[in-house]
Amino acid sequence: MPSPYRDLRERALEANREIPRRGLAIYTFGNASAFDRARGVLAIKPSGVAYDALRAEDMVVLDLEGKVIEGDLRPSSDTPTHLVLYRAFRGLGGVVHTHSTYATGWAQACLPIPLYGTTHADHLAEDVPCTAMMSAEAVEREYEAETGTQIVECFRARDPLRTPMVLVAGHGPFAWGATAAEAVYHAAVLEELARMAFVTRTLAPGADRLPAHLVRKHFERKHGREAYYGQARRK
Ligand SMILES: [Zn+2]
Repeated sequence: MPSPYRDLRERALEANREIPRRGLAIYTFGNASAFDRARGVLAIKPSGVAYDALRAEDMVVLDLEGKVIEGDLRPSSDTPTHLVLYRAFRGLGGVVHTHSTYATGWAQACLPIPLYGTTHADHLAEDVPCTAMMSAEAVEREYEAETGTQIVECFRARDPLRTPMVLVAGHGPFAWGATAAEAVYHAAVLEELARMAFVTRTLAPGADRLPAHLVRKHFERKHGREAYYGQARRK
């Protein structure tokens, strides 16, 4: 019998394949998942399988409690982080985690990525936030789930749909989106913003952030109610 999760697995596979294609990971670093909110299930990369060997049938399908519904392989060890994010943030259709170099550099420095220019403002209207460093007690509990909790804490006063990315202090970036494809797009954008900000800070350590009126203009023309960037969607 064909799997009812074929499409979901394909979406997860495609997002995972995009990770090395965009230069966001080497070997088995990183993972992506795709979420079907109507059914309450996600498909995620199996643990420790290289990207070029991945097949749709290798994706592991789980419910939001982490129970495996379909798949023979062990899911990514970061699965509990993905579960926490899908449970906490409404409107997510995909989550991506990488150790892409520049974003991880800022995460290791425990620094948010400053909003220096319009490329950044085209995607989010604030610095890319960085979580607090995880405490020894939290690490002792369920480490991967606690990583999710750190992110949720960091978003208490933020809208995860307006700021679809974060740095986990001492670790690396997570990004998400309405679809798995959008999540991996945000992961690639995040790496580029991290790289540009690194160059900016290197050239001018005291560089100012982009003025608020330019931030507003760039963010709103793409994401505001009166957005006019790109082609209008045909109904
Ligand atoms: Zn990691």
